Amino acid sequence: MPKQQILDAIKENDTIILHRHVRPDADALGSQCGLKEMISTTFPEKNVFVVGEEDPALTFLAEMDDIADDMFTDALVIVCDTANTGRISDVRYKLGKQIIKIDHHPNVDPYGDIMWVDTTASSTSEMIYELLLFGQGEWKLSEYGAKLIYGGIVGDTGRFLFPSTNNKTFRYAADLIEYPFDRQALYDGLYNVEVKIARLRGYILQNFTLTKSGVSKIVLSKEVLEQFDVLPLETGKLVGTLGEVKGIKAWIFFVEEEDVIRVRLRSKGPVINELAQKYNGGGHPLASGASVSSWEEADRFMEDLEALCAAYKG
Ligand code: AMP
Repeated sequence: MPKQQILDAIKENDTIILHRHVRPDADALGSQCGLKEMISTTFPEKNVFVVGEEDPALTFLAEMDDIADDMFTDALVIVCDTANTGRISDVRYKLGKQIIKIDHHPNVDPYGDIMWVDTTASSTSEMIYELLLFGQGEWKLSEYGAKLIYGGIVGDTGRFLFPSTNNKTFRYAADLIEYPFDRQALYDGLYNVEVKIARLRGYILQNFTLTKSGVSKIVLSKEVLEQFDVLPLETGKLVGTLGEVKGIKAWIFFVEEEDVIRVRLRSKGPVINELAQKYNGGGHPLASGASVSSWEEADRFMEDLEALCAAYKG
């Protein structure tokens, strides 16, 4: 029973350090920091830290702790929402005494002394709430923790729209909104965009291409990003933009970064994470990411995606 093992391991340790994936999103932070809240609310005497690089767009949700390397020596390390070790933010996770993986992505890299992976969960935040329920009565959550976990669920389900949203998701969300956090402020933080991002959304809608097989593509080159004064990291909020266009089976964003072209891939049916794995990436069946190192490789990625969508009978 990984849930019992996880709760026992937390109880047994005085220092617990929580990680999540690089380029965090609401679920990464919601699960990481929601779990921190759950532990510190239940056991205020424990030292619980969250680590990893910050994304300025998400610091309104939570901020990371700055800790010395030697804190890891005797620590329990828990990694949330991260399928493979290469994507763990803050490589010092290796220094921990014991490692736990909690995740809802396919278990492509089964790391950790204890693993709890549930690919049917809408989000890792949903799993953290499930852990709280499992620890019935004894484990507690603060209002802030509820806000974090709810935010993670909202983020990873695309506001309860994606097919990963299940009956548990709604039940847990119903529980979580019993806590009196300001939901409107949370939505504003997650979804309000700056004017420059809204303008770039306009560019995407004007310039995307769509093939007969239902593959849509947009290229955000360095020049385009410069024109709109937007950083590659800031394009995360734009990936959903094409999801509502009729006739699209899968869509792809090529975002040119300093020395790599970041691929953001989404689908309405064809399974895309295996394709993402072929190009240094991975993710969920319908939401994945990868990276390519040249525009020629980007073209090959497109050809593969085209073949995948042409063969798909949805
Ligand atoms: P993103 O486009 O960054 O929002 O990523 C969508 C999904 O794909 C997330 O669940 C990520 O965990 C996963 N993902 C993105 N990039 C990678 C990568 N390079 N390797 C593995 N998984 C990835």
